[in-house]
Amino acid sequence: EVTIHGVSKHYGALQVLKDVTLTVPSGSVTVVLGQSGSGKSTLLRSINHLERVDGGFIAIDGELIGYRQDADTLYELGEKDILQRRVDVGMVFQNFNLFPHLTVLENLIEAPISVRGVPRPEAEALAHELLARVGLSDKAHSYPRQLSGGQQQRVAIARALALKPKVLLFDEPTSALDPELVGEVLAVIKELARSGTTLVIVTHEIGFAREVADTVVFMEQGQVLETGTPEQVFNRPQHPRTAEFLAKVL
Ligand code: ATP
Ligand code: MG
Repeated sequence: EVTIHGVSKHYGALQVLKDVTLTVPSGSVTVVLGQSGSGKSTLLRSINHLERVDGGFIAIDGELIGYRQDADTLYELGEKDILQRRVDVGMVFQNFNLFPHLTVLENLIEAPISVRGVPRPEAEALAHELLARVGLSDKAHSYPRQLSGGQQQRVAIARALALKPKVLLFDEPTSALDPELVGEVLAVIKELARSGTTLVIVTHEIGFAREVADTVVFMEQGQVLETGTPEQVFNRPQHPRTAEFLAKVL
């Protein structure tokens, strides 16, 4: 379970997260919607401790992200501990972010070996399993530049899974793809959702959200304005701003 409690975040004078509280139960899928600049990416990056929050806390299965608690005080963890803790949180970005000089297989085994200390044969076996899962068994020895955008994104998903994260975050995973490649990536994410992987997904694909989400969250100006099932949020939005947003994207 991901627990986000009273989280706030400023960039200088600009407050980009305002008292965000949200629980993502294990095995559930949460889709985050909101206009550009509403703080969606900042929220995801905070779950990963790529951003430091300046109020509230985030925990995964009860373990604080980026901090340890001593009595009533939170202390930020050191770089090394942050890296260790971060393996619990996988992240897939809009632009794939694969290592261009490594083959697909090497992309998948790099972090398990260097961060988790997994023996190479074991890391390779898992990598082959994951490539089969995303339908790319034949691409193990290709380089990212030899793959389509949709294939690269499926490799990025397999790479994130290779660390066996407790939660997987997606920040607009299909926004950089040509329309005809969107479906193959959404299909892989749907399969993860069905198999009970805990997912938090920022996307503008409303049809997809309706299909996979257990919870839909609507953000505006750093605040969560509305949370509910897809049926509640899409069919009977409670907040006028949610209704306005949906009218524009549906
Ligand atoms: P989009 O849909 O365009 O991706 P978003 O909802 O993901 O938007 P964020 O990227 O989280 O929004 O940005 C929230 C706000 O924080 C925006 O006003 C943005 O300009 C600001 N912001 C984001 N990163 C920084 C930064 N490193 N320094 C200063 N301001 C930032
Ligand atoms: Mg964003």
